[in-house]
Amino acid sequence: MTQQHGGPYPDERIQVLVDVVGDKLIDNIARKTPYPYDFHLPADEQTITAFALPGGQCFITYALFSQWNEAQLAGVLGHEIGHVVGRHSTERIAESSFWQTSTMGASLGADMGNVEGSIGQNTLLSNGRDDELESDELGVLFTIQAGYTPMR
Ligand SMILES: [Zn+2]
Repeated sequence: MTQQHGGPYPDERIQVLVDVVGDKLIDNIARKTPYPYDFHLPADEQTITAFALPGGQCFITYALFSQWNEAQLAGVLGHEIGHVVGRHSTERIAESSFWQTSTMGASLGADMGNVEGSIGQNTLLSNGRDDELESDELGVLFTIQAGYTPMR
């Protein structure tokens, strides 16, 4: 999957940031999950997307990563963890258009309620709507449980 998106991002310090935020989410969520999570940062600077594979492999392209701050990164990873926790199948995790149309990153000052609302609207356009809504709810919950406070 990483190879399809330009291979691993060359700067390991940036990859570490993704790991740190991902692990922080996993360590703090109240809903324990048995999967061995791993967070990947493909170097793709064109494709704005994030997705997860059943079993705990989570991916966020550099194109998406580079636009957003840490709390928003946590929101993205939380959403992907939500897919894993919810046992959503790969076929139903069709995220490409989802993240491209998401306005989550449009405003750095958006609070979590707005973030959730904008994702909810976008999911109406994509497949696996119920899965996306469940992941959104879990993602926001995980983000808050990990100590990221809504931004004002
Ligand atoms: Zn999703």
